[in-house]
Amino acid sequence: MICPYCGKEMEQGRVYDRLQVKWQDNSKSLFPKTVLLSKMGLLGGNATAYLCENCKKVIIDYSDIEQE
Ligand SMILES: [Zn+2]
Repeated sequence: MICPYCGKEMEQGRVYDRLQVKWQDNSKSLFPKTVLLSKMGLLGGNATAYLCENCKKVIIDYSDIEQE
């Protein structure tokens, strides 16, 4: 993937969590908007992510992740 900020090739890797990687809005709601970025795995959740060390940005494509 090409970095949309600087145009250099990004490095593919992952971000991970003990359970599952999620994005959540900043609302104080009991039911905040939540987007799953990884499947739940036995060894934790892994989301495919692209890194640009030049811009200090990470991009996650969650189009393959089924939302609950
Ligand atoms: Zn960049």
